[in-house]
Amino acid sequence: MNHPLHAQITEVGPRDGFQAERDFIPTAQKIEFINRLVDAGVPRLEATSFVSPRAVPQLADAAEVMRDVDRSRGAVLAALVPNKRGALRAAEAGVDEMVVFVSASESHNRKNVNREIEESLVGFEDVARVAGEAGIPVSGAISVAFGCPFEGDVAPARVGEIASRFQELGFVSASLGDTTGMATPPLVAASVSAVREAAPGLGLGLHFHNTRGIGLANVMAGLELGVDKYESSFGGIGGCPFAPKATGNICTEDLVYLLEEMGVDTGIDLRKLAAIACDLEAAVGHELPGQIMKAGLRLDLHSMDSVRVAEG
Ligand code: ZN
Repeated sequence: MNHPLHAQITEVGPRDGFQAERDFIPTAQKIEFINRLVDAGVPRLEATSFVSPRAVPQLADAAEVMRDVDRSRGAVLAALVPNKRGALRAAEAGVDEMVVFVSASESHNRKNVNREIEESLVGFEDVARVAGEAGIPVSGAISVAFGCPFEGDVAPARVGEIASRFQELGFVSASLGDTTGMATPPLVAASVSAVREAAPGLGLGLHFHNTRGIGLANVMAGLELGVDKYESSFGGIGGCPFAPKATGNICTEDLVYLLEEMGVDTGIDLRKLAAIACDLEAAVGHELPGQIMKAGLRLDLHSMDSVRVAEG
């Protein structure tokens, strides 16, 4: 067993989760959720995205969110940046970190950003330059890193090659995204070792979706490999674009529960976090897939009088 003693959780709900919501979440409410997540001890967030407001109207308020959110607690507020224009907006808004994204399969990258993978990687040079001039670190996300809904299996070596380009671009880390929930523990092991071999100087994070119910099993696989960065969303908010009723991101409360029970410190107050997730569920007006927010912690004991025991 090679478990890390501490893990850094990146809360992606305000970006990856909110953008999947049909109804606009008021800017003030977004800011309040981010502030409360930081107050609960979340060390890093994908707070918003500087993609075209026409493409993602839900996050058209990116600059306002960054302007009005409480920065005094020192959590890292990262934002997604698709290109040079987005990088300029993000730098002006004062993000702590920029995140660029590319898919590990040509068809998914074409579908997502209408570019070849190579075109995306070349475009990141502009983002890296803008970020460098502003003194802002950049990390890279690799979508469909464990399987593509159009092409099937993705070769771990391909993921490694992209990570090595990230390293050449001076990025601080790569996150491997299981965009449509196709990861399994053996695939996690193969991709993590491919990335470590190809880009030994790069930080490595894992972004799992629970689409097929084994998101936390994949986290266990990551822990056994010593990976100490995970991405998740509070309440498990965020869907799967190809399976309307399927769940998306693994849930932050459930992840924190697992990690803390495994002796991996997250610095997050689980009780506060579960309360925030319940408020999120009320705010979006539909059920969220998180489990701890519904069941409570395992040592939240119940009064015996309050439970009816079935006979037989
Ligand atoms: Zn996601």
